[in-house]
Amino acid sequence: MKLETLDIAIAGAGIGGLSLAALLARRGAKVTIHDQMSAPQPVGSGFVLQPTGAAILSRMGLLDRVKARGARISRMHGRLSGNGRTVLDVGYRPGAYGIAIQRGALFDLLLESAIGTGVRFETSSRVVGIDAGSSPRLVLENGIKTAAADLVIDAMGANSPIAAKTATELGYGALWATVPWPQDGRFRADELEQRYRRASQMAGVLPVGTANDGAMPMATFFWSIRNSDFDAWRTAGRESWIDAVRSFWPEAEMLAVIAEPVHARYRHLTRTPIAGLNTVKIGDAWHATSPQLGQGANMALLDAASLASALCHEATIDDAIALHLAQRRLHIRFYQLLSRVLTPFYQSDSTILPFSRDMLIGPATKLPIVRSLITTLVTGELLDPVGRIALERLAQAEDFASKNQSALV
Ligand SMILES: Cc1cc2nc3c(=O)[nH]c(=O)nc-3n(C[C@H](O)[C@H](O)[C@H](O)COP(=O)(O)OP(=O)(O)OC[C@H]3O[C@@H](n4cnc5c(N)ncnc54)[C@H](O)[C@@H]3O)c2cc1C
Repeated sequence: MKLETLDIAIAGAGIGGLSLAALLARRGAKVTIHDQMSAPQPVGSGFVLQPTGAAILSRMGLLDRVKARGARISRMHGRLSGNGRTVLDVGYRPGAYGIAIQRGALFDLLLESAIGTGVRFETSSRVVGIDAGSSPRLVLENGIKTAAADLVIDAMGANSPIAAKTATELGYGALWATVPWPQDGRFRADELEQRYRRASQMAGVLPVGTANDGAMPMATFFWSIRNSDFDAWRTAGRESWIDAVRSFWPEAEMLAVIAEPVHARYRHLTRTPIAGLNTVKIGDAWHATSPQLGQGANMALLDAASLASALCHEATIDDAIALHLAQRRLHIRFYQLLSRVLTPFYQSDSTILPFSRDMLIGPATKLPIVRSLITTLVTGELLDPVGRIALERLAQAEDFASKNQSALV
């Protein structure tokens, strides 16, 4: 399809919305993003871009700048608090690595890319619904409907208002803080390190690179917490938390001392991706999980690239949506299931699950076959999600758009 003929309205300027907007506008589509925020801004701390997400950013021409800002991660290493026994040790296949990055750093690059390709932004634009039909419109909080579009995208994350199904909140969330990276060598600069005590206590330290070129390197520190305990945690005060961190993971105490933690609640849901005629959900609006498997941001990038690639390939929007869903469904179902099953091993009140995690899963990861399987799983590459979305279609469409542009000059 010639994207120059399409008017596309995207609700939500998160990772999924911004990357889809940039991919489509670059190929000629007229794209408008609506976001509730008064100025586009990132939400949250830092995360790991896996080879899947990196492949999309490479296609968008952003990977070198992402690498320059992020921290290269070669290992995920989990130990028990107390005796320090390793119960999770996952590396990457040779030549591969994760890129841990501050959410703001990735957001800035995606925003710059979207602006550079001519995407229009409507800020303070809170979407409350969709006026469905062959030319759908977004309905805003003040009752105003946006101009009719050929395609409407819901990229409003887990709490999207366009949903029959509200997201189930998981029992555990976490306190997240971005702090200066400790330069004294107490943490390895290429590892996501975690500590566990049963499944009711977990903490992690992730190097996340710099917010912008030349800024100081930072770390993300997270501390698992039962949501129902949050008020008691706040009442107990900072000193009590610092004591708890010190006894759980002495090296991390200094991070707790300077942290300004934010409480994040996690949700798990899989919604139907079609919200009406010519209306599609991507990212967390379609499928949200706890960040235990660390795939959410990568999944949002894959969704965006998949939909853009399908729109470039097919002759009609209906066929493009069908192709996009066929490309993404299996991978999403599989990882949703896996996340549902695995999260309680790391965040729950169970005593049996963490016991089996420490006695069976940890030692099993030392076996080469299991190790390689877990590596592919954690990097998000199981079921070949990148191969399925045929990124070369995007390259062809880009060539076509730039040839047209030069013909006009
Ligand atoms: C604490 C935490 C840690 C995480 N760690 C990882 C990790 O390590 N690795 C990983 O891959 N993923 C991680 N994730 C998940 C990842 O952040 C999400 O999967 C990803 O951000 C989803 O992108 P999205 O574009 O679908 O939605 P979001 O990034 O949530 O963006 C949604 C956008 O929609 C806007 N919006 C919402 N409602 C409205 C409305 N009514 N009207 C207009 N605009 C609206 C919001 O302002 C926002 O800009 C983590 C998530 C959390 C909360």
